[in-house]
Amino acid sequence: MLYKNVTPSNIFECRQCGECCKGYGGTFVTEKEIKAIVDYLNIDPEHFVDKYCQVSGGKPVLAQGRNSYCVFWDGLCTIHPVKPRMCRNWPFIKSVLVDINNWHIMATLCPGIRTDFPDSAIKECIRKELTKKL
Ligand code: SF4
Ligand code: SF4
Repeated sequence: MLYKNVTPSNIFECRQCGECCKGYGGTFVTEKEIKAIVDYLNIDPEHFVDKYCQVSGGKPVLAQGRNSYCVFWDGLCTIHPVKPRMCRNWPFIKSVLVDINNWHIMATLCPGIRTDFPDSAIKECIRKELTKKL
């Protein structure tokens, strides 16, 4: 059976609650992404990693700020136009294709994720979305 209404915007709509910006999420940032953030905020690039990142596996990840939210969360994402790829892609990520249960686990955290479609249709929708981003 075809589920034509299983589109990215139907299975996910961000409610801007900030739940995914809380805790140590391991949001990796590349050098290119750091440059974009530095330019956007017009801040000193030299101490960016020391000031705004922690290091995980030798790579910089965004640090936690107040109330254990991401250092760039302040009621909303303050770097939204230049936020890292990991944040931009959420929740359309490869691990959901590996195991659809990850979608359901993510849905317990993120109120914008819908689970009331067949798993196979959700997976196919995410697969197509990821193909577009290659
Ligand atoms: S948890 Fe989900 S709904 Fe809330 S801000 Fe993050 S993506 Fe949006
Ligand atoms: S960069 Fe923005 S979207 Fe990503 S975790 Fe930080 S506050 Fe959330």
